[in-house]
Amino acid sequence: MKPPLSIPNATISRLVIYLRILTNLEKNGTNRTSSDLLAEEAQVSAFQVRKDLAYFGRFGTRGMGYTVLTLRRELQRILGLNRRWNCVIVGMGRLGQALADYPGYMESNLYEFELKGLFDIDPHKVGMQFHGITVQHINDLETCVRTHGVDMAFITVPVDKAQDAADALVKVGVRGILNFAPTVLEVSEEVAVEQVDFMAGMKRLAFYILNPHLKALKEDEE
Ligand code: NAD
Repeated sequence: MKPPLSIPNATISRLVIYLRILTNLEKNGTNRTSSDLLAEEAQVSAFQVRKDLAYFGRFGTRGMGYTVLTLRRELQRILGLNRRWNCVIVGMGRLGQALADYPGYMESNLYEFELKGLFDIDPHKVGMQFHGITVQHINDLETCVRTHGVDMAFITVPVDKAQDAADALVKVGVRGILNFAPTVLEVSEEVAVEQVDFMAGMKRLAFYILNPHLKALKEDEE
């Protein structure tokens, strides 16, 4: 079944959470699960779990629940996590270096995010090594993207350089950007951008600490 043309962003975020829960269940030797159990672990309602999955087809058997292995594989396929994704980091300052050092890109043998290149404009950073990858000048981005078939990029440059970095990435065919710079990027429709903004998260936290009764409404935002 083809997914519908419009799916709430929150549903995709929850599918990632359900996948993590199913992967843990499988590791613990659990064969079957239910929307009630997934809901409890994900801290949403069972109705929400069934609604999220229904966007993509029918996976369980009424009254019998789901086979953990089958549902885990289906969610991996739906999310595109049954293949390798090649990534680069643009901006090798404090954050770029921390991300290059992160050991968790390859969580399982089934799918992985692999760093293929690290880029900066600062001659003091070019030439540095992180886990066997040498930081290159941004002028060498195109060669790296073409050689390795790079799909995704992290943008970790100062905010006033983020659009330039995005333009450079899009120009050479990168289709997904995880943007850490606190700005909205303008990209063509076929390019996906995910914003990571920890300060925005802290501001939301401040609001929810002051308004705890509104926290429950977060679940059914669509
Ligand atoms: P930083 O100044 O330490 O590093 C930025 C790097 O980008 C530098 O090495 C610089 O030479 C490089 N750069 C500048 N223009 C470039 C270009 N056109 N192409 C390639 N490289 C370029 O900054 P940082 O603290 O690592 O933060 C990076 C971004 O992430 C900022 O937008 C910041 O707001 C955001 N951010 C940082 C943190 C953090 O904890 N440091 C957390 C969240 C978000």
